[in-house]
Amino acid sequence: MTPRPDLAEFLAARVRDVPDYPLPGVLFKDIAPLLADHEAYAAMVDALADFGGEHAPGGRVDKVVGIEARGFIVAAPVAYKLRAGFVPVRKQGKLPAATFATTYDLEYGTATIEVQRDAFTAGDRVLLVDDVLATGGTAAAAMDLVHQAGAVVVGVAVLIELGFLGGRARLADVDVQALITV
Ligand code: AMP
Repeated sequence: MTPRPDLAEFLAARVRDVPDYPLPGVLFKDIAPLLADHEAYAAMVDALADFGGEHAPGGRVDKVVGIEARGFIVAAPVAYKLRAGFVPVRKQGKLPAATFATTYDLEYGTATIEVQRDAFTAGDRVLLVDDVLATGGTAAAAMDLVHQAGAVVVGVAVLIELGFLGGRARLADVDVQALITV
């Protein structure tokens, strides 16, 4: 598909802002309208895949990592497009085999996420894909898991970056790309 010059606007027009969800004061980015529009879904996947493709720094990645749950919907088709493997990072207790785990702070409380210990071949080059980069805590924790499992995160690619939260500062030494920045 030919890249759209107006990609950010095209995609942003299909993201719905829901105020005060799931908590008062949070402006939730609902990507359901974008996913339901086949042109927008395909354009998003194509553009995110470019960040892990042959023209990316260092060349094509070996694996794409998606973070439960909306991250799966965004990351899995990116892996398919790149002919790369897909690795799920899941909430605690969901993965059946031996895992690495990491716990990180949320606005209220903490969360633990896991990856299976044998998910990667040593030295695999990984693109981490998610829907929204907010404080960067989730992406930083997922990067930590990938590194524990012996692979290397070479890029983080998201649909939406909430720039005012400064999340990319927590992802030093890695290429961070967003299709929409607000
Ligand atoms: P953070 O760890 O703060 O970067 O949060 C990132 C994760 O929380 C992503 O996996 C998003 O799915 C979700 N998230 C955070 N803020 C929002 C938001 N305003 N709208 C939608 N999802 C969000």
